[in-house]
Amino acid sequence: MKKKVLITGAAGFLGSHLCDRFIKEGFYVIGMDNLITGSMDNIEHLMPNKDFEFYHHDVSNFVHVPGELDYILHFASPASPIDYLKIPIQTLKVGSLGTHNLLGLARAKGSRMLIASTSEVYGDPLVHPQTEEYYGNVNPIGPRGVYDEAKRFQEAVTMAYHTYHGLETRIVRIFNTYGPRMRLNDGRVLPAFIGQALRGEDLTVFGDGSQTRSFCYVDDQVDGIFRLLMSDYAYPVNIGNPDEITIAQFAEEIIKLTGTTQKVIYKDLPKDDPMQRQPNITKAKDILGWEPKVSRQEGLKITYEYFKSLPEEKLFQKEHKDFKGYIK
Ligand code: UDP
Repeated sequence: MKKKVLITGAAGFLGSHLCDRFIKEGFYVIGMDNLITGSMDNIEHLMPNKDFEFYHHDVSNFVHVPGELDYILHFASPASPIDYLKIPIQTLKVGSLGTHNLLGLARAKGSRMLIASTSEVYGDPLVHPQTEEYYGNVNPIGPRGVYDEAKRFQEAVTMAYHTYHGLETRIVRIFNTYGPRMRLNDGRVLPAFIGQALRGEDLTVFGDGSQTRSFCYVDDQVDGIFRLLMSDYAYPVNIGNPDEITIAQFAEEIIKLTGTTQKVIYKDLPKDDPMQRQPNITKAKDILGWEPKVSRQEGLKITYEYFKSLPEEKLFQKEHKDFKGYIK
């Protein structure tokens, strides 16, 4: 009998890569998604697989899965600042009510549950690089509050189920991750820059571009998550690539990668945009024997090839223009 895993957010960027990995590892995979931000395109290739099934369901409502369930990975959530503005209530619900429903399911089935937390629990961090011990600097009522606080609640309720009910739980704090299947127009910096280059538009750097991020290739991220799930460590673990870069430098890298003749233009920095972000991954190294292997140069090349292969109409869907208050 194959081990059975439920992956929520299965049609999303990370969720779909996780489905691939668990299928490859010989699991029976149930993918679940309400398809608000996810896309069936990401999992279409899995649909004929006899070890994969898909439930179209919103986990903020009661979740039922028949039979036994060994593992649950909760990856359903909007994950870009543009999405938080567009669907703030759903963002809050999936991180709080959705997590609670899934913890209940895990308890009923005796499953081990891993939740996708985020570097956003550190907010605009005053400690650099960020260690798991840092409590964060979050504005609960700012534009990112709906995501950050849902994720912080998610960690709290997961730890409560662990300590009070003895549930086996894992918490991964995911730092900026990129790769094929990111949504081209979700407003995140990498698809934004590559999309702009492909459309022949100038690259929009927010603020003066001195804010930093540290980008992790998706295969490395998925490997870290897999190792954490299989470990016996119940406390939060940062998974990300510590290779830190300013957004201005990142724009230059994308210009070089794509060969675009467009220039960089500067726009206002969105409210509460973190000034610096870099994971301390000592815990992941020590406990999971994990560290990232894919350089930004390699990862960006693969990701660019993916975006280039998309149909042209996707390139010209500009969802983010609708969201006032973010892009000025
Ligand atoms: N950013 C930018 N131009 C864009 C989109 C984003 O300069 O067209 C900046 C954004 O202000 C932030 C960084 O890039 O400082 C990363 O943004 P993203 O939304 O990808 O992720 P997050 O801020 O959640 O790390």
